[in-house]
Amino acid sequence: MIQLKERILSDGKCFPGGILKVDNFINHQMDPTLMCEMAKELVRRFSEHKINKVITIEASGIAPAIMVGYYLNVPVLFAKKKVPSTMENMLTAEVYSFTKNKTYSVCVSSDYLCKDDRVLFIDDFLANGNAALGIIDLVNKAGAKLEGMGFLIEKGFQKGGEELRNRGIHIESLAIIDSLDNCTITLR
Ligand code: 5GP
Repeated sequence: MIQLKERILSDGKCFPGGILKVDNFINHQMDPTLMCEMAKELVRRFSEHKINKVITIEASGIAPAIMVGYYLNVPVLFAKKKVPSTMENMLTAEVYSFTKNKTYSVCVSSDYLCKDDRVLFIDDFLANGNAALGIIDLVNKAGAKLEGMGFLIEKGFQKGGEELRNRGIHIESLAIIDSLDNCTITLR
């Protein structure tokens, strides 16, 4: 998606270890106009699917997910990283965080994710696919159906995209980064 690619090149910042910071328009300050356009594009790319729910993980997935849910006119469920003592009928999965280098639990209530659901997972970044694998685990535990996974930015030099596509999952990424070597952003 051209607007996103241009914005990554103008405002994205590389950090050591292959981290791209987009705090100026996605991860800290957010650009609602661009977020709407990205959501519309994701909805267009998944238009052949019958989706009745969007799922994401807090916190950075929530903004794009809620815009996608708005255009699909379906509810948006976010997996929580802190296990609330009051959650009923909890489903949990383990996720390894690439940026924080630690494993954490994510949970949703099966009151909101169940066997009739046909879900689209939305997240800001696809790197090694660990967040996505955690969501697949939750969707399977709920007996729901995963329709696809949409990302704003995919880091094509990490293994997540290939692994998920090899599983036959419909994956869409609005911008793919081929390399962040030498702190230079190379887009596909
Ligand atoms: P994965 O689970 O695919 O390995 O990593 C995806 C998650 O890690 C995303 O939800 C995102 O929050 C975070 N992440 C991974 N790589 C980057 C990066 O280069 N920049 C930022 N801002 N977040 C990243």
